[in-house]
Amino acid sequence: MVPGLLLATGQVLPLSSVHRLARTSTLVRIVMNADGQVLDMGRKVRLATPAQRRAIYARYATCWIDGCPLPATMCQIDHADNWSTGGLTDLKLLGPACQFHNRDRYQHPERYTRRKEGTDRWAFTYHRIGSRRLRV
Ligand SMILES: [Zn+2]
Repeated sequence: MVPGLLLATGQVLPLSSVHRLARTSTLVRIVMNADGQVLDMGRKVRLATPAQRRAIYARYATCWIDGCPLPATMCQIDHADNWSTGGLTDLKLLGPACQFHNRDRYQHPERYTRRKEGTDRWAFTYHRIGSRRLRV
């Protein structure tokens, strides 16, 4: 057997070609679901794809801000790391945020703390910075 790389087409790519490609190519990581739909889009697109939305609805029941009851299916898809500052449109960094929390977290990121929930989800705690108790 000639050493090489077995392609999906059934052809064997000779080792010399593998080395040439490794030197001259840029590798791109693509994460797909079982149906072959791409789940990690990186910086290619800002908006979540339909396949990403379906995966998010399977992972989250509600808005990803603690205590917010809005169902995920009625939420906007939010980037855990803000898109405008380099955030990726990758499934592991996307989640549902209601319109209010999506905008508020964008405008006041200092009011929120992010934490990991399990292996593949995030949650945010809202801190009411600057609020004062009313004195009677
Ligand atoms: Zn919310």
